[in-house]
Amino acid sequence: MMAYWARQGRITNGAQDKASWKHYKGALQLLPRARRQWVAKHHCGYEGNNYKLHQWKQRTSSQCPRCQETETHRHIMRCQSATATDVYTNRERNFAQWLKGTTSGDIRRAVLRHLRAYRDNTVAETEEWWSEPARRASDAQLVLGPNAFPEGLVVAEWQEVQERYIQDRQLKRDSGRWTRELIKRMWDICWDLWDSRNAEVHRVAATRRQVILAQLDQDVRETHELGRTNAFLPNVERRFFRTPVEAILQQTEYQKRTWMHVANRYITRDRLGVARDQEQQRMREYLQPGSVDHIVSQQRRIINRQAADMRAPTGSRRDL
Ligand SMILES: [Zn+2]
Repeated sequence: MMAYWARQGRITNGAQDKASWKHYKGALQLLPRARRQWVAKHHCGYEGNNYKLHQWKQRTSSQCPRCQETETHRHIMRCQSATATDVYTNRERNFAQWLKGTTSGDIRRAVLRHLRAYRDNTVAETEEWWSEPARRASDAQLVLGPNAFPEGLVVAEWQEVQERYIQDRQLKRDSGRWTRELIKRMWDICWDLWDSRNAEVHRVAATRRQVILAQLDQDVRETHELGRTNAFLPNVERRFFRTPVEAILQQTEYQKRTWMHVANRYITRDRLGVARDQEQQRMREYLQPGSVDHIVSQQRRIINRQAADMRAPTGSRRDL
């Protein structure tokens, strides 16, 4: 497992035995089942981010939906778009608050330094002015590489320095529990970013879908009006257009598309007949002035279009 993670860049090769496997597993136990599976998948890059979906040929682009970068699993935490930054800042504040209530100021600073370095894709630097325990834990963590810490692979030193903090203050707390909680809370931040990213992807997709459906309704209205006001259609077709438009608009998308298909066939056939026949044009103009203007003005196009349709190969869209 650890060797596999080394290949994934989660942990520096050769430092595997320095990571606390015990705390990693303990932190997983704090999560509900579904989230546990997500943690396992996410940090190995196996969830449906766009980089993966693109590799699996389910997306045309591997770009992040919120910025221009490639959306790898680590990008979820690193995305610098305004929305992602808002979510991150908010969650980091809560996390810092929790640290403030449970550990020393310097351990808190060290933890936040490592978390932020991951987000900013830089190396966490240990400050000389931190207390000795904070420096010790921070330095030890650096050995595991830049990705290990927020991904749940922490060194045993964090628990050791927390244990000392608890004993110095004679608190009745469990340093092991604190370390597991620390890991879990960093996973939670990552989850929240992933969650908000998904919400945004779905919102954008829903909006796009609404635009398409609104356009379809608009097409139905216009086509219906054309058919309804055309007194020269054969009886069957005129009856077809007598259904109130509101009733058609209440149908399913599939039914509307089927309706459009039939309606367009009727209208196209009628237009073509008129476009080709000057006698009919004159007659219609006499019976209903203005009713053929739109056909006469596009006469060439209507006839050419028909000719092109005749040439279209079987199975092509034009062949409908
Ligand atoms: Zn991004």
